[in-house]
Amino acid sequence: MKAVVYKEPFSVDIEEVEDPRIQDPTDVIVKVTTSAICGSDLHMYEGRTGAEPGIVFGHENMGVVEEAGPGVATVKKGDRVVMPFNVACGFCKNCLAGRTGFCLTVNPGFAGGAYGYVSMGPYTGGQAQYVRVPFADFNCLQLPKGTEHEDDFALLADIFPTGYHATELAQVSPGETVCVFGAGPVGLMAAYSAVLRGASRVFVVDKQPDRLRLAGRIGATPIDYSKGDAAEQIKEQTGGEGTDKGIDAVGYQATVPEGEEQPAMVLNTLVEAVRPTGMLGVVGLYVPSDPGGPSESAKKGELLFRIGRFFEKGLRMGTGQANVKSYNRQLRDLIISGRATPSFVVSHRVPLDEAPEAYQHFDRRDEGWTKVLLKPEM
Ligand code: NAD
Ligand code: ZN
Repeated sequence: MKAVVYKEPFSVDIEEVEDPRIQDPTDVIVKVTTSAICGSDLHMYEGRTGAEPGIVFGHENMGVVEEAGPGVATVKKGDRVVMPFNVACGFCKNCLAGRTGFCLTVNPGFAGGAYGYVSMGPYTGGQAQYVRVPFADFNCLQLPKGTEHEDDFALLADIFPTGYHATELAQVSPGETVCVFGAGPVGLMAAYSAVLRGASRVFVVDKQPDRLRLAGRIGATPIDYSKGDAAEQIKEQTGGEGTDKGIDAVGYQATVPEGEEQPAMVLNTLVEAVRPTGMLGVVGLYVPSDPGGPSESAKKGELLFRIGRFFEKGLRMGTGQANVKSYNRQLRDLIISGRATPSFVVSHRVPLDEAPEAYQHFDRRDEGWTKVLLKPEM
């Protein structure tokens, strides 16, 4: 089959690779109809993670079941399904508690499993014609047959539930004010989720005009951090207090300011932008190695978090991979009922063959390239 294969930093190619096959009785093989490119793929693409050349990318996958293993009870050939980016067993302590992003069976001691992701298990990615789905009864979310809402449903694999997870970590309640740092696909989904949860005002911080425009379209207030300190701008618009809740949807790829040693820690700005005793939801990725930046400590992932201000303000913080399975059914039903249309973030739909160029555009954050869906059958 054809698949998107990582070659070296800033380069992927389309190659013929082996078709996936049923390895365990609880597997299914899905014929991929949509697989999205994610900001998380860029960590590997830009060479920050030590991903081995040859790895097939793609953790945001949906499609139609082609073959089901003999131990699969509820999923059958022809079913249209979307899979959380987390590969999870469904029966370990963490999965039973709904923490499927930290499955102890598939990847003990680490942040769970994922398709096509370095250090997250041996699961081949779905930016390909087919993908193997382990523990299929648990990991396949059933979708209505046909092609309706394809682009909305595709976002249930990761960014819509991840954005929602950020609002859950920050416990966004009706009437509250929220600031979201990062207007990438994840930040926009976090802002959208905050609106769905009844936030009275949502600020979205970025400097990309096209992304800030999208934030404006869903009723959020855009804040351009290139035009002045973002926390100050937010405080000015909240009577000097700051917002009730805050979300980091940037992580360690935040830009390194001129003359500084390490990426601008969005977290430190967030601490200033949120009112005392507020809560922070951190879904932007921080990993323990090689975040870039010239200093040795930055290269080891030891970024400077100013814990003093965090303590002084009595803030609380939730972090980590999203437990997609905890939200995807409910978010699917909001899509079906017409109350949510997350595909407003989708800017491009391209065949698999165009993935190499699409990666370049998305990686450079070229104007208008917000979210790319790869369509292997196009
Ligand atoms: P993205 O790179 O497209 O978006 C990041 C945005 O942040 C960009 O628009 C960029 O302009 C902006 N930005 C950079 N520096 C900034 C700063 N100092 N202040 C404000 N904005 C700044 O990526 P994405 O797909 O939206 O993903 C965002 C983050 O979420 C990534 O780190 C990704 O790995 C992570 N992620 C986490 C999970 C999870 O489960 N926790 C899931 C998916 C993605
Ligand atoms: Zn993703």
